Amino acid sequence: DVGADRVRQAFAAAYPADGTEGGDEADGASDVRVYAAPGRVNIIGEHTDYNAGLCLPIALPHRTYVALRPRTDSVVRLASAQEPGAAWTGRLEDVAPGAVTGWAAYVAGVAWALGQHLEETGRSAGTIRGFDAVVDSCVPYGAGLSSSAALECSVAVGIDDVAGLGLAATDAGRATLAAAAIRAENEVAGAPTGGMDQSASLRCAPGHALLLDCRPGLDPVDAVEQIPFDLAAEGLALLVIDTRAEHALVDGQYAQRRATCEAAAATLGLANLRELADSVAGAAAATGDPAAHEAAFAEALGAALDRLPDDVSRRRVRHVVTEIARTQDLVALLRAGRASDVGPLMDASHASLRDDYEVSALELDVAVEAAREAGALGARMTGGGFGGSAIALVPAERASAVADAVAGAFSRAGLAAPGFLLAVPSAPAGAC
Ligand code: ADP
Ligand code: MG
Repeated sequence: DVGADRVRQAFAAAYPADGTEGGDEADGASDVRVYAAPGRVNIIGEHTDYNAGLCLPIALPHRTYVALRPRTDSVVRLASAQEPGAAWTGRLEDVAPGAVTGWAAYVAGVAWALGQHLEETGRSAGTIRGFDAVVDSCVPYGAGLSSSAALECSVAVGIDDVAGLGLAATDAGRATLAAAAIRAENEVAGAPTGGMDQSASLRCAPGHALLLDCRPGLDPVDAVEQIPFDLAAEGLALLVIDTRAEHALVDGQYAQRRATCEAAAATLGLANLRELADSVAGAAAATGDPAAHEAAFAEALGAALDRLPDDVSRRRVRHVVTEIARTQDLVALLRAGRASDVGPLMDASHASLRDDYEVSALELDVAVEAAREAGALGARMTGGGFGGSAIALVPAERASAVADAVAGAFSRAGLAAPGFLLAVPSAPAGAC
């Protein structure tokens, strides 16, 4: 594994065995263990996780690697190949929400959150000891492919292993690790994101998409379902277009969308918008043919939207409810072995995110448009939006032609060249 070798070398360079740094009982390279966790790309179900909805991510082949050497004291030393000059040293007992800034918050935050988990389950946070770690990643940064979750989850499986918690061995345990990673991101790194990214990084399976049901009351084990998504077998490829456009989830836009959804649910007397999606789907379920179904869906949704005070919240809610329905429809197609028929649902998702949820960007619209014109079966923005990445489902033999067409369209529009990668549903976080 090239990534694992590289991070091992980086570790040796960052922490030469000089014996001057206290805490290591035996500081040989043999104590260094390597873990990796993937970035993710969401097939459909965008901005639904924090609405107790459904999403459908796959794990990318692109992974974040961490080389980690346990210490006997509580010191944590961190370095990252992606953050040269921003090494960090601290002590676990000083890590808490608000106490760590910069990229180290994602790592130290996971140690803190796992400590909280231990305390909450009657054990001691002191079970988690300090460590020296070096990070190296090939998950593009801030591209909507969740480099942050890849970082958190690589560290989560690492701490789990060296502390002997055994959580990574079962899906239930992985759900616990995901919860800790989410807590690290929300509370220590201060990014109010939903739970999709960490669940994907820890719980996806190769050749499958992960259907994640984000309803808060669900047993985490019941909240996921593996949906076969063998692109190659269907002659398909999933092209990821990294627009390289400015993208910052830790800004007001994301929080604003979230707040609007929560306020709308409260106005409707519901705990979350998933409850609305379920009741709208229920009202339409009794109808027979597709046209009648669509009319009944629109009528039930319209009746709810009429109760909202303003056009903006009506459009935000319409996106969430229709996106949850599209996710269910897309999963039904995959279950029926009809992966090549999902394109129109991806297209509709993009239109909804662009027009109703207003989280697209010029670069994303250009990418999606050009990909479709060049023969993509469907294309949409993915991730939080305002930049980041788009995905295009393409017949495998058209992948490079579609990439060329998108690059050409960017150039004609005067945009900086995008990056491309092919997404294959890959393995979750684990030891290397
Ligand atoms: P995304 O998750 O979409 O890539 P985010 O803004 O959520 O974008 O996360 C990016 C942040 O995560 C970076 O700014 C950095 O703080 C942290 N991060 C991710 N990967 C690494 C890495 N390999 N080394 C150091 N920090 C990282
Ligand atoms: Mg992120």
